[in-house]
Amino acid sequence: MILREYYLIHDAKIKIFTLLKSSQMPLTTTRFPETKNYIGGKFTGSVKKSMDVLSPLDGSVISTVPLSAAEELDLAVQAAQKAFDAWSSTPIKERVQIFYRYKTLLEKNLKELATLIHEENGKTMDEATAEVEKSIELTEFACSMPQLIPGKILEVSKAVECRIDHKPLGVVASIAPFNFPHMVPHWTIPNAIVLGNCMILKPSEQVPLSSNRIAEMLKEAGLPDGVFNVVNGDREIVEAICDHPGIQAVSFVGSTKVAKIVYKRSTSTLKRCLALGGAKNHLIVMPDAHPEMTATNVTASMSGCAGQRCMAASAMVGVGNVDPIIQKICDEARKIVPGKNLGAVISKEARERINKYIAEAEKAGAKILVDGRNPKVEGKENGFYVGPTVIDYVTPDMAIAKEEVFGPVIAIIRAKDVDEAIRIENSSNYGNAASVFTQSGGVARYVMEKASAGMIGVNIGVPVPREPFSFGGWNDSKFGVGDITGESSIEFWTQLKKTSIKWNPEAKTNWMS
Ligand code: NAD
Repeated sequence: MILREYYLIHDAKIKIFTLLKSSQMPLTTTRFPETKNYIGGKFTGSVKKSMDVLSPLDGSVISTVPLSAAEELDLAVQAAQKAFDAWSSTPIKERVQIFYRYKTLLEKNLKELATLIHEENGKTMDEATAEVEKSIELTEFACSMPQLIPGKILEVSKAVECRIDHKPLGVVASIAPFNFPHMVPHWTIPNAIVLGNCMILKPSEQVPLSSNRIAEMLKEAGLPDGVFNVVNGDREIVEAICDHPGIQAVSFVGSTKVAKIVYKRSTSTLKRCLALGGAKNHLIVMPDAHPEMTATNVTASMSGCAGQRCMAASAMVGVGNVDPIIQKICDEARKIVPGKNLGAVISKEARERINKYIAEAEKAGAKILVDGRNPKVEGKENGFYVGPTVIDYVTPDMAIAKEEVFGPVIAIIRAKDVDEAIRIENSSNYGNAASVFTQSGGVARYVMEKASAGMIGVNIGVPVPREPFSFGGWNDSKFGVGDITGESSIEFWTQLKKTSIKWNPEAKTNWMS
């Protein structure tokens, strides 16, 4: 079946042909226009350096992305500073109206937006659709901000009142990774902007297309020019963000290595910073776990988005005899077919890194139960695919047990009891998520208490907290105070103004007056 879609990108009418084999995965695409910076409400094309953007689906060049220099960032900061006074003094009830309209645009354009994510990131259309749905939910939460930040007022002594208000910080920056080109920017954009800040987004240079559409739709929804800006680039622009004196706060999502650099560099210039890093999530499987539910959850967690989720199951700690459950996990994994219900990994380098972890584990004595290396994906021979891989008898000292693999791979470590399983989980430097699969409330409670991670699942493989609850890990998975989404984000994106008021001249003075 041939399906034709038309849509607007930077005012150019682009024709996309998607040849659908199943209802899931388009097989061929034409190119997209070049990605641009978006500064002061305009797409700008003055950047001298650029690089190709490849689609992981088939390795083809689909666009180019500018690699901006500090001067472009400076222009964006100036545009944001110019917009800040008017935007921050617009009542919040008016600010959210724009985001109500924006949410409607996300809903209206859902399929087109999902197609962009699918093309630039390589995840399946179903996963890309779910990603936009999550962005819609995040926008919906931001629309509830007027109800969440009404402030407080109290008569603290006769005729003297104190009040407290949440005030925006000014110009803020959001730096995003490749794995969720749409959702991760929506962790920060709606909340920060509704709360009165002006933002500069630095998308991942590997997946820059979605951000340009976000800019277009925010403008269409009525967001004033300069309130939201996009500056594309790589390391150079991230460092310029950390150093820029006109930026008050930096949020970062990406690997731990870069999270540490960004946290140190931006706080050394006295900025507020919240930097989310990588992960190595452990799923503890007890012998009494429900076999089917556990197998489907573990498999979905390790293989969803091709294992490129910071919440993905990466290590499974099997306690006692869990062989029947492992057998079912292998059966489930074999049902997953790269290019059909499993997307591609982001790049050739990522595929090689994942394959290397598998090979090294095998060499070190682990047993490969399902081997996803070098799958054949017909018509997509140049795509970056790794099939689901299940590896048993991994030991805690192996690299595959300790490091973030970020592919559709589960390393199974055997433990004799729950205490040993907890020790293995606790020994990880990371601490994003941990889950336990059991039918025992007591064991579940014990793991909830003892696991060293910010997000815990009980019989859930991907325990993502939904708003108003907040998202954020512990240990090397997050640097900074508070979380990036939900109610916790309010503290990050605002500062408190405390005002004491006395109108009555007869009111007594005291040492505080
Ligand atoms: P990355 O750290 O390589 O890149 C993230 C951002 O930093 C990008 O915008 C990139 O341009 C920039 N960057 C890269 N190298 C840099 C350097 N040396 N100096 C300054 N900036 C640099 O991460 P990625 O590969 O895009 O994304 C995958 C990683 O993100 C994984 O580790 C994953 O676990 C993590 N992640 C974490 C969360 C979370 O909530 N904790 C969520 C999503 C992804």
